[in-house]
Amino acid sequence: MDDKLLFFFLENMALIIALMYMALRVKESLSLDKKNPAILFVGYALFINFLTFSVMYHPFFHEGMRIDLREVPLFFISYIGGWKVGILSSILPAIYRIYLGGPTVLEGTLQSIILPVIIGALFHVKKPANPLLVLINLKRMMAGFILFEMIKTVAFLLSTPITPFIAAVMFIFAAIAALSMALMLNEENRKLLLRKELEFLSNQDPMTHLPNIRFFKNRVQKLLMKDEPVSIVMFDVDYFKTYNDTHGHQKGDAVLRTLGQLLKEAAGKNDVIARYGGEEFILCYSGASDEENVKAAAERFRKNVQDYRFEGEEQQPEGDLTISLGVSFSGSGKTLEQIIEEADQALYQSKKMGRNRVTVWVG
Ligand code: GH3
Ligand code: MG
Ligand code: MG
Repeated sequence: MDDKLLFFFLENMALIIALMYMALRVKESLSLDKKNPAILFVGYALFINFLTFSVMYHPFFHEGMRIDLREVPLFFISYIGGWKVGILSSILPAIYRIYLGGPTVLEGTLQSIILPVIIGALFHVKKPANPLLVLINLKRMMAGFILFEMIKTVAFLLSTPITPFIAAVMFIFAAIAALSMALMLNEENRKLLLRKELEFLSNQDPMTHLPNIRFFKNRVQKLLMKDEPVSIVMFDVDYFKTYNDTHGHQKGDAVLRTLGQLLKEAAGKNDVIARYGGEEFILCYSGASDEENVKAAAERFRKNVQDYRFEGEEQQPEGDLTISLGVSFSGSGKTLEQIIEEADQALYQSKKMGRNRVTVWVG
């Protein structure tokens, strides 16, 4: 009988771990963490209903009492999702337990279904930094779980035919199963957080916090593939070497950050902007094929920069910190590289013609 008991709990625990693993894979493949938290939590609740039901399906019978680890998923979900998700997750287990009946139906429902939801929800952290990618504080969760197990064990020993040996074995396996669920969720969510961060960093210029050219090219390439007309504006700071030599690189960096900010403010929400590299920036207007409009917008931006009072700009060759711009347009069969190259050549023309001006590329 002792052997059977150990194997039974081992099997129950393995079932929890295996189904939890599968659920995390499903969550990942459905990208549930990119959707609304409500959808994710309904998904969790459905899963916990199913998991708890599976755990209850083959119980260990002891004097008519059904023993299993149903409390583990119920505590776990209430701890991470709060009481509403906890209640939603315990509907099927509660109906099933009541339907099965038997001498300990009341204890089985109160102590192994309702109590874990209540204590789990009491320990629930109200406002996690990111509700979709919760990282569980293991100490806090296990403290709550052990408190729950102690109350439940005492209640069981007093009200049911359970023996101290069964209660002790159950305690240990339940704790391992709860800890495993938390470790698996944390590992999964840490991986997703890391992936998000990596994606963010690989698309961002750390100095100006503008998107980088890699992000820019990906986005504009997509527009071109949809045959959307696009126009590209590139600009470069005039006499920036002089500025750096006069004021130092730190002040030069501050100028680049300010330019990035001005560019952000000038761009519409569908436009794509980036720091091209060094002291060069790039902007893509989508849908705007009208040459006059684009040129006027580039001209406005040039004037904004000229009018902005940069620190120490009076020492620049023209007494003002300015930019030179080049504009180009998409056209039949032109690749992104070609359009960028044309904007670059137009920019070079602006430099040659005396700087602080806009040139539209003409083929
Ligand atoms: P032009 O008007 O012809 O563009 O003259 P310029 O001095 O701006 O051109 P040049 O290409 O000679 O110099 C560009 C300078 O930009 C040199 C480089 O040190 C500076 N620069 C490039 N990237 C950064 C950066 O991240 N921070 C700072 N502070 N300076 C940068
Ligand atoms: Mg340059
Ligand atoms: Mg320059």
